[in-house]
Amino acid sequence: MTGLYIHVPFCRKKCPYCDFYSVGYRGESAEEYAKAVIRNIRYYDEEYDTVYFGGGTPILMARQIPQILAECKIKDDSEITAECNPLEMDGDTLKILYDCGVNRLSVGVQSANDMELRALGRSHTFEQARQAVLLANKVGFSDISADLMLAIPNQTAETLERSVQSLAELPITHVSAYLLKIEPNTVFGKKPPDNLPDENETAELYLAAVNLLESVGFEQYEISNFSRGGKTSRHNLKYWRREEYLGIGAAAHSFYKERRFAVKRDIREFISSEHQLEIVTDNNPNDLEERIMLGLRLCEGISETLWRKVESALPLIPKNYYKIENGRLSLTPEGFLVSNEIIATLLTVYTNKGGHYE
Ligand code: SF4
Repeated sequence: MTGLYIHVPFCRKKCPYCDFYSVGYRGESAEEYAKAVIRNIRYYDEEYDTVYFGGGTPILMARQIPQILAECKIKDDSEITAECNPLEMDGDTLKILYDCGVNRLSVGVQSANDMELRALGRSHTFEQARQAVLLANKVGFSDISADLMLAIPNQTAETLERSVQSLAELPITHVSAYLLKIEPNTVFGKKPPDNLPDENETAELYLAAVNLLESVGFEQYEISNFSRGGKTSRHNLKYWRREEYLGIGAAAHSFYKERRFAVKRDIREFISSEHQLEIVTDNNPNDLEERIMLGLRLCEGISETLWRKVESALPLIPKNYYKIENGRLSLTPEGFLVSNEIIATLLTVYTNKGGHYE
């Protein structure tokens, strides 16, 4: 069944590292935007078993989300996620989300260290994020994910350990641990912050995060994602298992009816169009290549049928980067750190372009 992604392109303030598409929040624009989302939901007329409000800061549209969900055909027992910024998570707003069927929150906690939060330009403290998660749990949310940022300026193994311990004490079921990446079109891209960890330190922080999270009960299931009690993100798993999803909204991406398409990063154009303009990025995506690229992000890896097709490239990959268990090939945490190179090597069978391991 298809997943539905809705991009909410509003934030109170732009974080200096972020290149997701968002504009400053205005209530009237949110109303107009919701109407355009609803027009598109009717247009595609699909049934979904996962819905994901991503952004931007979707909780800023909490008052429109019930209207949007009322227009969606949603299967029973669907997973419905909304991304939240801790500073927007007051009791009334959380209750609106809970009452209309949102059953999973993804909260931008990022770190338990206030100096690191400041270095990232975040407006909240860890205590505010902690209280927000506790409140969400009290309102009734039992499935809460927290974002954890790795490779923050001045981050050390010790501060990371404290962040993981602090997260483990919260009523959360999931952690997404992303490496801070300096993107060109951001404030950090124009002027990188001081004291960024170098490549080796970054690799060490990533490997330490995997170990620390596992030690407090979060099982890794994807390069950057960890779950407790089996609560993986059903929606995001669709991306990696190459299942179909429809993206609605400015900057949303889709893999729908065997085509990949995107919508322009332009809120005005999205609001004023009767239906969103699909910019096709791939009309006939290569099933085999995509399954290898996406499947190797997951700890479950790829099937024997699949890896046998690129077996001739396997001897080129250092042995500590992958494993074969029960017929499936998957990457080790060390392999995840160089997954692009590994995938490039495997696909040399088709493209003649290899990866380089340094
Ligand atoms: S990190 Fe989140 S809150 Fe900050 S600008 Fe990006 S989408 Fe908005």
